[in-house]
Amino acid sequence: MRFCSHCGSSNIVFTTPKGDNRPRHHCESCGAVFYENPKIVAGFIPVWEDSILMCKRAIEPRYGLWTLPAGFMENGESTLEAAERETSEEACAEVKHSKLFALFNLPQINQVYMMFISELVSLDFSPGEETLECSLYEKQDVPWDSIAFPTITYSLRFFFEDRKNGTFKFHCGDVFREGSNSKFVAHEVLG
Ligand code: ZN
Repeated sequence: MRFCSHCGSSNIVFTTPKGDNRPRHHCESCGAVFYENPKIVAGFIPVWEDSILMCKRAIEPRYGLWTLPAGFMENGESTLEAAERETSEEACAEVKHSKLFALFNLPQINQVYMMFISELVSLDFSPGEETLECSLYEKQDVPWDSIAFPTITYSLRFFFEDRKNGTFKFHCGDVFREGSNSKFVAHEVLG
């Protein structure tokens, strides 16, 4: 960052502000501190009978790989509203009866994912601008080798495991990338 968005000064430094415990961009002219915090991604596993709705990405990163409808929250939204908006933007689809299903911390890239299970209202869906193709998949047909993000793989894995066991429960944990692999470290949750 080169200029202060409060006073316009170029007197920006990246050091630990007085009384703080880590370096941050701050303005030495007016004292403004520019905090950077994790971003929240909200999304759905949209369900229709035995299938779930997936989207093939038309944007980078991970162009051409498959994902679930999900994206960064905007200011003024709830997580559920963000997931609904993303589903409408990416798959032109509407969902109902949404329930929070998984929370993933991604400390390496400063993101938190909140994934809901929801029911597709109808088969009226089509690719939005950020999507090449959207399609319903049963478990055996999911393109497991072409999934865009580890959080999506874990969401689907937990979903199909829970469905097989006959009970859905809440999943929470940390996801770490290790080379081309990823690791899930579960947290305890109530229930
Ligand atoms: Zn300033």
